[in-house]
Amino acid sequence: MSTIELLWRARQGKRLGLTGTESLSLDWKAVIDRKDRIVESWSKGKEEDLSKLGIAVVRGKGRFLGPSEVAVDGKKLTGEKIIIATGSKPARPPIPGAERGITSDELIHLKEQPARLVVVGGGFIGLEFGFALARAGSKVTILQSGAQIAPPLDDEIREALLAAAREAEISVVTNVKVTRIVEDKTVEAQIGSKAERFPADQVLLATGRTSNVEELNPQSAGVELDHSSVKINGYLQSVSNPRIYAVGDAAGKHQHTPIAWYEGPIAAHNAVKGNERKTDFSVFPSAIFTIPSIGQVGLTEKKAQDRGHHVQVSKTPFSYNPAAGVREETEGLVKVVYEEGTERILGVHVIGAHAEDIIQIAATGMLGGLKKSQFGSAHYVFPTLGGAIFDAMAAS
Ligand SMILES: Cc1cc2nc3c(=O)[nH]c(=O)nc-3n(C[C@H](O)[C@H](O)[C@H](O)COP(=O)(O)OP(=O)(O)OC[C@H]3O[C@@H](n4cnc5c(N)ncnc54)[C@H](O)[C@@H]3O)c2cc1C
Repeated sequence: MSTIELLWRARQGKRLGLTGTESLSLDWKAVIDRKDRIVESWSKGKEEDLSKLGIAVVRGKGRFLGPSEVAVDGKKLTGEKIIIATGSKPARPPIPGAERGITSDELIHLKEQPARLVVVGGGFIGLEFGFALARAGSKVTILQSGAQIAPPLDDEIREALLAAAREAEISVVTNVKVTRIVEDKTVEAQIGSKAERFPADQVLLATGRTSNVEELNPQSAGVELDHSSVKINGYLQSVSNPRIYAVGDAAGKHQHTPIAWYEGPIAAHNAVKGNERKTDFSVFPSAIFTIPSIGQVGLTEKKAQDRGHHVQVSKTPFSYNPAAGVREETEGLVKVVYEEGTERILGVHVIGAHAEDIIQIAATGMLGGLKKSQFGSAHYVFPTLGGAIFDAMAAS
């Protein structure tokens, strides 16, 4: 549980019989310092792992000189095979005054909590930071260019998220065209035919990420790009230069840490032993760390219908789950999308406390090919939040 979520839950402590928790406050600097310590200790641990394996680390910015040669600050390195794992960076939108905004990379280093935050972009990153700052006491406005926030979400989960945003006093404005960010950080925008102004102390630009591959001089290595990522086959191999592989955000399939961790060993194996391992993303759980959080795996109800499945849905609200009741965490629901007749589970969607953990139960069941009724009759521990998955599977 993040510090901010803990603060939010603790402030509601009265309902749990705690007194004095309403006056709890957040020490922004201490939270940022703690985050830095955690990241540093993690990086150090990873560097030690590399050193134990005898892997040489050359520090500096790499750039291709040719199909099998890379320069790092003037030093030339050659490789029979090369894996690109250079990640991504926030994309700055072409809005006049965009330089007055900050990206997520900068927000996590702010020395002070902004009293008013305007978020440009209602995707996952904008929503996560919007919720975190709102729960920490900032006045948050999220401006989304399209008609919906977080378009890949299941519609019912999005509705529940919007209800949570209202409860957190986050103002969510859709169909917005941001036209300018002025000197005092006020965001000017057009909403239909109306010009609107959104005053802010900080403006978070959360309008997507772009891979770092373009900075590597990929043309000199004959590496073809798909948008800004390396165009790869199912073996993570460049389609235009078979000596080169790409993983993580540089490969652009899904921008998630476990994807980079999953792809790294596959690319390394294929680069050394030949293309023996193919990637498989058929069951791929992911989470959005809003407060409450969201977990999802597989197809949304709409996507399953669009793909021609005969779709059935079963669901259970967290208010039905005794563990959630005991913890006073009753907001949210679990929704199961499955195929009529075969009972094949097509997708599971969770919004509520610990959704990011709960979804993994569903993903494991899907990976094992469990039918909905088999899942729904499995034994589970009572009372637990994870029990909500089994209840939703048992529901009709
Ligand atoms: C705000 C935010 C929140 C996120 N939250 C989550 C989350 O909750 N869960 C999740 O799963 N994912 C999350 N992600 C996504 C996740 O961080 C990325 O998908 C993941 O880090 C990708 O791993 P990677 O190894 O491909 O790239 P990175 O982790 O970005 O690593 C790339 C490395 O390459 C280095 N590099 C770049 N160019 C060069 C060069 N030319 N030469 C040498 N080195 C270079 C970079 O400095 C960096 O160290 C989040 C991302 C952001 C921005």
